[in-house]
Amino acid sequence: MTRAALGAQTSTGWAQGGIAAALGDDDSAALHLDNTLAAGDGLCDRKAAETILAAAPDAIAFLERHGVAFDHNADGSFAFGLEAAHTRRRILHAGGDATGAAVITALTQAVSATPSVTVMPDTEVRRLIVADDEIRGLLCERHGQPLALATNRVVMATGGVGGLYETSTNPSGNFGQGIMLAARAGAALADMEFIQFHPTALATDIRPLPLISEAVRGEGAILVNENGERFLATTPGAELAPRDIVARAIAAEIARGGRVFLDARQALGNRFAARFPRLPQSAQKPA
Ligand SMILES: Cc1cc2nc3c(=O)[nH]c(=O)nc-3n(C[C@H](O)[C@H](O)[C@H](O)COP(=O)(O)OP(=O)(O)OC[C@H]3O[C@@H](n4cnc5c(N)ncnc54)[C@H](O)[C@@H]3O)c2cc1C
Repeated sequence: MTRAALGAQTSTGWAQGGIAAALGDDDSAALHLDNTLAAGDGLCDRKAAETILAAAPDAIAFLERHGVAFDHNADGSFAFGLEAAHTRRRILHAGGDATGAAVITALTQAVSATPSVTVMPDTEVRRLIVADDEIRGLLCERHGQPLALATNRVVMATGGVGGLYETSTNPSGNFGQGIMLAARAGAALADMEFIQFHPTALATDIRPLPLISEAVRGEGAILVNENGERFLATTPGAELAPRDIVARAIAAEIARGGRVFLDARQALGNRFAARFPRLPQSAQKPA
């Protein structure tokens, strides 16, 4: 079940930049792991990172089998993008910056075509029913009416907690309800301090904020302050340093009363709209 229409109001559908997978001739899962552990600054669970990264090529093949058309070069090879902390171009994208939309379209079609799956859209889970330390069911709200379902198995994939923050790029209907549901049912919560602060979003009154994909920096756009100073110039990796470093540097500029601009004029110029077709659109209206 899902609280909106199937695939709607999901961060997945809004993801722009793409998916990292070590699929290039110059790349390997081991190098991807090294990059990930370095960016994780000693906080990664090595075994989990290793398992996930080793499975990435198969995950891409799975998505392709279900109809996600990743962008390719004229010679048929994947058109890899570059993002922060990666020492290889290994980001696969679809439709330029419409990767998440391509993924959600393919997966919702696959789910809808699977007879063994019953989809219950517009159904919000409000409580997990627990008795004698066991899950017994769900209490939901559907079209303004309560609905109870009996089950002893629940898998939650309810998205993140970004909506708890004043400025967020997440769908505004989602603010960590899944974590609350799990906590109330007695689940042990782990790693709650790990919130991702994406460094770049457009400074507007629009909520949620329109995200500016990291791939824009991957294509060479630079961050400058109101004096035109490239304030990450001497930081290792500069604009492609790990996200926490870039986000802190931007926050420091704003905290001293400065302003921050992402300058893509030299790196992309007239190619900007073709490479990032959704960005100008998302800057005007939330998707
Ligand atoms: C603008 C943007 C750009 C991004 N770009 C990238 C990128 O380029 N690359 C990348 O790797 N990541 C990117 N991310 C992050 C990535 O999209 C998310 O980490 C990922 O999509 C989360 O997937 P999910 O399935 O956990 O949550 P979601 O895709 O948000 O799905 C959660 C689902 O749970 C449902 N739900 C929530 N609460 C309830 C409830 N109580 N009852 C019933 N249903 C409920 C929601 O309706 C929704 O269907 C981006 C995120 C955003 C917002």
